[in-house]
Amino acid sequence: MTKINYYQMQCETIKNISNLKNKPKLLIHVCCAVCGSYPISYLENYFDITIYFNNSNIYPDTEYSRRLDELKKYLQLNNSSAKLIVTQYDNQAYNNGLKPLADEREGGKRCWYCYGKRMNEGYKFASENKYDYYCTIMSISRQKDSQKINEIGKKLSNLYPNTKYFYSDFKKNGGILKANEILKEFNLYKQNYCGCIYSYQDMLNRLK
Ligand code: SF4
Repeated sequence: MTKINYYQMQCETIKNISNLKNKPKLLIHVCCAVCGSYPISYLENYFDITIYFNNSNIYPDTEYSRRLDELKKYLQLNNSSAKLIVTQYDNQAYNNGLKPLADEREGGKRCWYCYGKRMNEGYKFASENKYDYYCTIMSISRQKDSQKINEIGKKLSNLYPNTKYFYSDFKKNGGILKANEILKEFNLYKQNYCGCIYSYQDMLNRLK
């Protein structure tokens, strides 16, 4: 199947909105400071940003708190004007949905479910609260399939037509390099697994 150039779509949207009198309102799903830092600092130039920290996938709870604290630290140190919404954390309920897909490899069907669940919850909130755009920063990760993430975004945009989906591929144009520079500059914590209990167990197995 032909791959769609979502980075080009990202640039086209930025070009289209950059001359607007008022910045459009963007609700952006962020999973951690490391992945979020570069997209947030870039998008703040063009959007009025609200971060949606909706990550009940993260196991255990101490790791969830650490990632959230690190994101708050980054926003403060970088004098970010982004607002932050933190949804209720319920890893047990989240895991009930992941369990049937426990044996799937990372990057496969389990992850597609996980992207879709969090994106749907965020998109619904964006639509109900009249945001102009919704986006997730997950495309910055090397381990995550940008094509899949944007396909999910497209499907959700049909469900919530009053909020546009911001198509993006943040790893392109040196995105990962820029994120690593910010990581060093602010001395941010970088986790060594994606988030759920299955990726946590894989990480422990790698360390054995
Ligand atoms: S590896 Fe990451 S994206 Fe995949 S199911 Fe686990 S937390 Fe979700």
